[in-house]
Amino acid sequence: MRPENAHQAMLLRLLREGGRSRAELGDVVDLSRSKLNVELDRLIELGLVEPDGLAESRGGRRSGKVRLSRQTRFAGIDIGATSVDVAVTDGELNVLGHLSEPCDIREGPAVVLDRAVTLLGKLREQGLYSQLHGAGIGLPGPVSFPEGVPVVPPIMPGWDRYPVREAVSEELGCPALVDNDVNIMALGELHAGLARQVGDFLLVKIGTGVGCGIVVDGKIYRGVSGSAGDIGHIRVDDDGPICACGNSGCLEAYFGGAALAREATAVARSGGSPYLAERLAAAGELTAQDVAVAAAQGDAAAIQIIRDGGRRVGQVLASLVSFFNPGLVIIAGGVARLGHVLLAEIRSVVYRRSLPLATGNLPIVLSELGDAAGIVGATRLISDHVYSAG
Ligand SMILES: [Zn+2]
Repeated sequence: MRPENAHQAMLLRLLREGGRSRAELGDVVDLSRSKLNVELDRLIELGLVEPDGLAESRGGRRSGKVRLSRQTRFAGIDIGATSVDVAVTDGELNVLGHLSEPCDIREGPAVVLDRAVTLLGKLREQGLYSQLHGAGIGLPGPVSFPEGVPVVPPIMPGWDRYPVREAVSEELGCPALVDNDVNIMALGELHAGLARQVGDFLLVKIGTGVGCGIVVDGKIYRGVSGSAGDIGHIRVDDDGPICACGNSGCLEAYFGGAALAREATAVARSGGSPYLAERLAAAGELTAQDVAVAAAQGDAAAIQIIRDGGRRVGQVLASLVSFFNPGLVIIAGGVARLGHVLLAEIRSVVYRRSLPLATGNLPIVLSELGDAAGIVGATRLISDHVYSAG
C-alpha cells in the first residue's frame, strides 16, 4: 500500500519520526487545516496511519493524535563479505528483532539470499511480523540501483547481474530495493546516527574494501551509473602495490582489511613487532583486529601501520573535502575500530591540507552505530520508497 499523492507521502515521512497531533503536523506542513485533515483521514482509510488518542490541550479543543499503523513492518538485509544480518522494524524504523550469522558471500546468490530469507522466517516465527511492507538490501559491491542488480562485483563470484531485487521481492511478497553497503550505512547514519541533523555529509567505510557514501541535501548521490563514491580505487601512489581491480597504487591496496593483514604479517616476519610475531605464530595469520589490539597495547610498529594508512586515507579525504565541502565526515567499517590513532591521523592530514573555509566547521568522527548502521539504513531506503507517491 502506497500513498496516493505527494502530501500524503510527506505526512508519512514526518510520522516516521514519531507520532504527533494533527495540530502539531499543521504547524510544520504547508497545508490548510481542512486539507491536512482530509489527507490524514484518507491515510487512516488506507491503513497506513491510525488514530492515537488525544493530545494535551494547547488552549482550545484537544487535537487528535495520529501515528503510523502499528502493523507496518520493514525488513533490512545487510549482506557482508563474511556475514549476513537481518532485522525487522516497525514503521518508525525501531528495530524489533535482529539476527546475524557468519556467511560466505562466495557461496553465491541462491545460497546467501536463502540464508537471509530463512533468518527473516525465524523473526516471523517469533511473532514479529505476519506481512512485510518492504525490504531493503545492502550488498558489498557495486550495484546498479535502477535495475536492482550487482554489476561485476570483485569479491562476489556468481553474483554479476543476478536479479537480487526481484528474487527477494518475490520471496518475501513485498517491494524491495538493493543498494551497496556503503550507501545503506550512510542512510543509517542519516536516520539514527550522528548525521541526523546534517544534510550534506560523507561516510567513509574502511573494511575489506574502502568506499564512500555521499549524501546531498538528505539524499544519497549515486552518480549516473551508481558508482559514485568508489574511492577505494583512487590512486595514491604510481608505484604502489597491485590492487584487486588490476591497477596499482589504489587506496584500497594500501589500506583495506587485506592490506593491513599483509603489512602486519610483513612486520611480524621482519621482527618489527614481538606481539604480532607471537600472534602470527599462534593463529597462522593476522587480521586488522590483531593490529588494533597491538596498537591498543602500545605496539610501535602497529601504531605506525595505522598512521601510514590514516595518512593515505586523509590525503584522499582532503581532496574530497575540497571538492564537496561536506558538513560532516563519518569514518565507519571494521577497520574504523582501529579507533583514535586512525582518527587523529586522518584529522591532522585533512585539517592541514584543506582550506579553512572548508574545514572551519567540519567534524570528522567515528561512527557510533557500528553494525546497526547497515540494517537501519536498509529499512530507511525501502521506507523512503514505500512512503513516496507511487
Ligand atoms: Zn583498485
